Amino acid sequence: MGETRYQAFLLKYAEIGVKGKNRHIFEEALEKQVKIHLWRTGADFEVSRINGRIYCEARGDYEYENVIDELKKIFGVVGICPVTHVTDKSVEGIKEAAVKFIGENYEDRNFTFKVDTRRANKTYPKTSMEVDADVGEALLDAYPEMKVDVHNPEVWLHIELREQVFMYSKVIKGVGGLPLGTNGKALLLLSGGFDSPVAGYMVSRRGVYLDAVYFNAPPYTSERAKQKVIDLAQVLSAYTGTIRLHIINFTEIQMAIYEKCPHDELTIIMRRYMMRIAEHIARETKDCFGLVTGESIGQVASQTLKSLFTTDEAANFPVYRPLIGFDKQDIIDKAEEIGTADISILPYEDCCTIFVAKHPVTKPNLNIIKNSETRLDDVIDELMEKAISGDEVVEIKHRGNQEEKR
Ligand code: ATP
Ligand code: MG
Repeated sequence: MGETRYQAFLLKYAEIGVKGKNRHIFEEALEKQVKIHLWRTGADFEVSRINGRIYCEARGDYEYENVIDELKKIFGVVGICPVTHVTDKSVEGIKEAAVKFIGENYEDRNFTFKVDTRRANKTYPKTSMEVDADVGEALLDAYPEMKVDVHNPEVWLHIELREQVFMYSKVIKGVGGLPLGTNGKALLLLSGGFDSPVAGYMVSRRGVYLDAVYFNAPPYTSERAKQKVIDLAQVLSAYTGTIRLHIINFTEIQMAIYEKCPHDELTIIMRRYMMRIAEHIARETKDCFGLVTGESIGQVASQTLKSLFTTDEAANFPVYRPLIGFDKQDIIDKAEEIGTADISILPYEDCCTIFVAKHPVTKPNLNIIKNSETRLDDVIDELMEKAISGDEVVEIKHRGNQEEKR
């Protein structure tokens, strides 16, 4: 049987509160996401919006940890409060509920506390300060080991007097950001490393849906390397919703570059063709307004400022690089936090590592690179067309516990 100590969850959101007339768009998007995520837990919740909060009331049993895990994947939620619904709304009822609430939730009650009542329902017969005092007194009577500290309490007992009465003391940190669906879509260049999944997460966290493209180089890269990218997209989709993953066979383009262009320029030229194909896919994708990569300044030769300048020039489309100022360790920490690190760390080969030169240029000159690319003139159009028309699209959905239930 699931744990049902709390009958409901209040979700707090921050930034969307200040969006003026657009506010309802953000709130509706968030409410929709909350419903989707709770549905994935397999439990039955009634979701509603009440005065700048989202209230999720359980209509039966649920797994507490599971629900919290899911709520921690919703962009836009800054705080998750497991709440008890007080059915007897009289002051006596609230006092009784508070004593029970503390008794059930805190084994060791040697702490300082403060009662914080908010009276949204102005018809309530007592003021919020009176309720604070009454409830505080009841708690001190019941648990003499507790002490009041109005300035810096260890435990805040929040009471909200609305049409219904809610009580909560814990606020679990949410992921923040903005709700999905409020900022269109971006196309993530997703490889198997640590960086690009984190980059996709960072952009999506601002309310952006994601699609992704992976450049595959069989037989130089294995089926396992491709599966690794699919697995990464699967982890990401728990936050970002369904991802359409485009798998592009890049082998022939790579071979042509390898045969015809100077080897110290291979990586940069390859990256330029990736950008061009990504741009093509992005333009064909509804509501897609940007490309996303995992680059950060100076991390490798192809990510010096001059290399990025040269890569960027190939695409006529905004390229977002949310990790641009991150150190590698920051990126790995973030990958651990979001759950992609365990997959990224697997050692499968990457198309870039196979064709990489011993001494790649770190300061590619755009004119020289463009000149080298002319050596591909007689084959590249056909190869690009072939790569694009061979696009294999995998739709990656996250269903949580619903997967097993089907
Ligand atoms: P990552 O950790 O994301 O693999 P990286 O440090 O290996 O990045 P590069 O190989 O220079 O960096 O690639 C830079 C960026 O280009 C990646 O973050 C990714 O967005 C994109 N990219 C590189 N290789 C591929 C690929 N095979 N398919 C799709 N995107 C790629
Ligand atoms: Mg890589």
